[in-house]
Amino acid sequence: LAGKTGSGSARRFEYIMETEAIERSCLEIDLQSALEKNQFSLDFQPLFCTQTGATNGVEALIRWRHPTRGVIKPIKFIPIAEESGLILPIGEWVLREACRQANTLPDHVRVAINVSALQFVDSGFKDCISRILEETQLNPERLELELTETIFLHDEAHILRTLASIRDLGVKIVMDDFGVGYCSLSYLRTFPFDCVKIDRSFIHAMTDKPHVKSIIDSILTLGRTLSMRVVAEGVETQEQFDLLREAGCPIVQGFLTGKPVPLTLLPTAIDASVMESAPAGNILCSVG
Ligand code: C2E
Ligand code: MG
Ligand code: MG
Ligand code: MG
Repeated sequence: LAGKTGSGSARRFEYIMETEAIERSCLEIDLQSALEKNQFSLDFQPLFCTQTGATNGVEALIRWRHPTRGVIKPIKFIPIAEESGLILPIGEWVLREACRQANTLPDHVRVAINVSALQFVDSGFKDCISRILEETQLNPERLELELTETIFLHDEAHILRTLASIRDLGVKIVMDDFGVGYCSLSYLRTFPFDCVKIDRSFIHAMTDKPHVKSIIDSILTLGRTLSMRVVAEGVETQEQFDLLREAGCPIVQGFLTGKPVPLTLLPTAIDASVMESAPAGNILCSVG
């Protein structure tokens, strides 16, 4: 067979491609009924204030409990949801569920949700947000929408209009994963973001690459100039935490300060972080 269709490795490659395509189609079929079968859930990861040790925000992260494959991560199914259009109903579910659950958290805790660019440019998006805020009675100031650089593939005037109409509701806008794409610092001046999250690849590289550390410093400076909150993502080590805190990074998020967990496990984490924040400061900072 290999002789007929080409070299053995080419045939193997073809086989892998076919298997992946089949795997994808299977997932897409299962994804179509996942909402009605109630297979989605949200985990929440705390954001940690480096100055006070308090948690003033959480990020909602979707999980898919597949009946035979176990828990499937968003990186695996969000792209399929985007290609098939399922991202619209799934995104609406995330919005409603996150707002509903956020209402059970203390009033000072904001909830951030991830919004796909396709959702963001959908003509019904703003009305969908208003409707859900009305329905759940969540204070709009407590809701944050995280957008990635892929929104910039769309028309600039349209983006600006949509951002303005959403901010009119009182909802905050976050630039997520900043620095991974075609985005430059100038975008942060052009578009009215309330907060920017530095991508975790920068945080990982920061400790041994001085030029990466200086990019982070520039983002922090710009954040102060524009009164825009800055969050460092993917903080895993005490060394990273200490460096960021010394650089004046106000908020960190990562496995060091809290992994994503179901909401039922979260209040303890929030209470604990508030309680442990001694007046002098920082439970996670090494002394000296
Ligand atoms: P993201 O928005 O940048 O979310 C942060 C991701 O980094 C999460 O992965 C989180 O579990 C992970 N993370 C947090 N702290 C650390 C750390 O210290 N080290 C490392 N290595 N990773 C850390 P997750 O939950 O697998 O989500 C991946 C991505 O999927 C998200 O990246 C977001 O872009 C997307 N996503 C998640 N939930 C949704 C959703 O409801 N809707 C949409 N459209 N996208 C979502
Ligand atoms: Mg995010
Ligand atoms: Mg991110
Ligand atoms: Mg990310």
